[in-house]
Amino acid sequence: MIESKIKQTVRDIADFPKPGIVFKDITPILKDGVLCREITEALAAQLLDVKVDVVVGIESRGFLFGMLLAQTLQVPFVPIRKAGKLPFKTIKQPCNLEYGSAVLEVHEDALLPGQKVLIHDDLLATGGTVVAAAKLVKMLGAEVAGFSFIIGLDFLKGKERLAEGNAPIFTLASY
Ligand code: IMP
Repeated sequence: MIESKIKQTVRDIADFPKPGIVFKDITPILKDGVLCREITEALAAQLLDVKVDVVVGIESRGFLFGMLLAQTLQVPFVPIRKAGKLPFKTIKQPCNLEYGSAVLEVHEDALLPGQKVLIHDDLLATGGTVVAAAKLVKMLGAEVAGFSFIIGLDFLKGKERLAEGNAPIFTLASY
C-alpha cells in the first residue's frame, strides 16, 4: 500500500530547521524511481473526478511531484516561488508557516481566468503556505479545484483550515 511505503521511506530529522521541529525528509523517496512513479500515479488516481486544467506547485519540494503530476495529467505546470526568484512581473502574497513567514509570488500571466487549478505541495502542515497559494490563484481569476499533498501532518489541523474553501483535499500519507 502506498501509504505504508511512503512512511517506511520518509525519514524524521529532529530539530530541523529549528529546535523542537521534527522534519519529514522526503529525499529518500527521490532515490526510489519505482516509488516515485507509484506516488505520481496515486496522486493522479485521486483526481479522476476532479477537472484539472493546471497544476500549481509550490517551491521547492512542490515542484518535484507537481511537475510529474502535471505531465501525467497532460496539463500545464505553474511554479509558485518565494519572493525575488521569478523573473517576469509577479503578484505577491505573504504567508505564515509552521516555522516563520514568507512571501509567495506567481507570474501575473501564469493562469487564465476560470482555469481550474490543482495546488500541489509535498507536505501539509498548518496550511499557511497553500492558503497563500490559493489567494494567488484567485487573484488571477482562476479557481482552486483541489489541494494535493504527499504527506499530511493532521495534528497541525491544516485540513480544517483548508476545508473552509470547499475544494477537495488529498493526501497519500497522514500522521
Ligand atoms: P504549512 O504552511 O505550515 O502547511 O507548511 C507546509 C510547507 O512547509 C510546505 O511547503 C512544506 O514543504 C514545508 N514543510 C513544513 N514542515 C515540513 C516537513 O516536516 N517536511 C517537509 N516540508 C515541510
